[in-house]
Amino acid sequence: MSATSEQNSDTPLKDWEDSSAVPLSESDASCKPVEELWFSDGTLVLVAGTSMFRVYGGLLAKHSPVFGHMLESPQSDDAELIDGTPVVHLADNQDDLKYFLSALIDYEFFGAFPATTTFDTIAGIIRLSKKYEVGSLRKRALIHLSSAFPMTREEFPASPSWTLPPTQWIRVILLAREMSLDWILPTAFYQLLENPTPSQLVDGINIDGVQFELAPQDRLRAIEQSIVICRRASAEIVYSLWGPAHMVGCYHYNTKQRASSCSTGRLESRKVVETRMKENVFPMNLWTAEYFTAMDVCNGCRYKMQPAHQEAVDVFWAGLPERFGLPGVGCPETDEGRLYGLDHRYSFSFF
Ligand SMILES: [Zn+2]
Repeated sequence: MSATSEQNSDTPLKDWEDSSAVPLSESDASCKPVEELWFSDGTLVLVAGTSMFRVYGGLLAKHSPVFGHMLESPQSDDAELIDGTPVVHLADNQDDLKYFLSALIDYEFFGAFPATTTFDTIAGIIRLSKKYEVGSLRKRALIHLSSAFPMTREEFPASPSWTLPPTQWIRVILLAREMSLDWILPTAFYQLLENPTPSQLVDGINIDGVQFELAPQDRLRAIEQSIVICRRASAEIVYSLWGPAHMVGCYHYNTKQRASSCSTGRLESRKVVETRMKENVFPMNLWTAEYFTAMDVCNGCRYKMQPAHQEAVDVFWAGLPERFGLPGVGCPETDEGRLYGLDHRYSFSFF
């Protein structure tokens, strides 16, 4: 299989093209058809990187106005052909293109949330559904991505449709920055820091020879907040367990001795908290309902501590965007995320 002509470098590039596209005649030795996306009756060959896809131009044009416009353009006499099928070079990442085309052609490949999928699939589809203007597919991918990043404290922790090893979480931040998905960033940063790997923050990570690094400003904030959250924020969230010393409403408070047997239970809770802080448990999970139930204190104390603790968690949650220099509630980016968050719950109710 070989190309019949070379792309004319004098031809102005169209908007779906890029100067990094490689003429097939130079790359055909290494270019390989992607088996599951190589249809013998396909009407269009797309080439990206070292991958070739033989697909249906009409189907792509139906979903994507960009492909529609591309295929309307008259073909020149010396147009590149493979087995009589026109060839179009794209500058896209070949894996992104594979996920994007699979989602368009195979309806089982990328089901709506809560069908499980992968981060790579979501990332590729978000990139290319924006570039090729396939709005419904982009929305589906954003709902999948958003499923890991709840918009309200009550929804935390989330039950996402995808997972990513903690050592690769930096990629989520980079995708959000690349595609301006600001609304996921506060919780994405929080989750990045929950699994501390200082070298990852400082040096980035390398996956199959590809280097991923936070931008300098994000790197600095992440390192700063990894210290501040572990120490000050965690301490503020559990302060209600041991302060104030005299809990108004305590059933066991002895006014003569100015002491309460609940003090011992509250002190014990401090030991538990400090152990959990050493284990790097983060503020949202540091003290939960189960721990309140297990505390050896009277209900008078418990009923005072629980709302105080909840208020501290709410304050921490509301302050997450500011910690990372991000826009908060009410800005367009957050409202877009809220919309997808609502859609995500809405779609969930239909399964
Ligand atoms: Zn008490």
